[in-house]
Amino acid sequence: MSDKQSVSVIGLGSMGGALARAFLDAGHPTTVWNRTAAKADDLVAAGATRAATAGDAIWASDLVILCVLDYEAANALLEPNADMVKDRVIVNLTNGRPEQARRTGAWVTARGGAYLDGGIMAVPSMIGKPGAFVLYSGSGTAYERYEAALAAMAAPVYVGEDAGLAALNDLALLSAMYGAIAGARHATAMVGPERAPEFTTSLLIPWLRAMAAVLEPSEDEESPLDMQAVGLVNIAQGSRAEGVDDALLTHLLTPMRDIIAAGEGAVLTELVKEIR
Ligand code: NAP
Repeated sequence: MSDKQSVSVIGLGSMGGALARAFLDAGHPTTVWNRTAAKADDLVAAGATRAATAGDAIWASDLVILCVLDYEAANALLEPNADMVKDRVIVNLTNGRPEQARRTGAWVTARGGAYLDGGIMAVPSMIGKPGAFVLYSGSGTAYERYEAALAAMAAPVYVGEDAGLAALNDLALLSAMYGAIAGARHATAMVGPERAPEFTTSLLIPWLRAMAAVLEPSEDEESPLDMQAVGLVNIAQGSRAEGVDDALLTHLLTPMRDIIAAGEGAVLTELVKEIR
């Protein structure tokens, strides 16, 4: 018998399957359930216990991880099992918005369970490895109790009692990621498919890593707005010259034009207009 916390994982898609695998690898007795039962087969072969229903999975462990496509699916799994939720800690790692997390949290709490909402800041191949982290919000008592077990999936980061805070921080971080990846895809389109692999490895990745440092709060203004406006216009025009759509950059120029119009001089306003 393992002395590790037993855990149930509901939802064994790309991410849920990786989470269940991480618990098994860390020696936690793990019960699994998935709507499409065959996705549990490899995990069961590796030592997991198959639950016949989602309700059985909730019943099987004090700590219940839920990781499905969206809140509609998560709520549809919880609601018919209202009687099972009492004294359980429901950790919902399904992506969603803060108000959805608060609503599901209130529903679980009203039925005598404790609720933690989570945002997974990793892709499945990162689960159980250094570098991955998961944001949690909701019951601080439940978090303290299960923090060590949750660490089997990824480094846990607690952001507060308001159940919506993990989702808020998750969506904000994903917004930064999508923005950065969109910029990176634009960059590789500019250099073209032939140069893109070498460009990505030797220039783009080191550049993005180095530039993350400029996000640190600082009083110094090393990059004046007029210089940035000129640069952006050049990038947009350079993109067009390579036959690459410049919508991403003209989108950035809109707030810059507004800042400039608010007091940085008519010359720059004219410059930015060139690109509209
Ligand atoms: P996925 O591979 O598409 O799996 C979706 C899961 O949801 C499957 O287990 C699926 O069951 C289940 N599901 C969907 N609708 C359902 C319903 N109505 N009733 C019961 N189960 C239902 O997606 P995933 O990558 O595992 O993503 C799961 C969650 O993790 C999402 O909220 C996602 O945002 C989050 N996440 C994913 C990643 C990633 O890179 N993959 C990264 C961070 C966070 P079936 O197998 O029966 O279809």
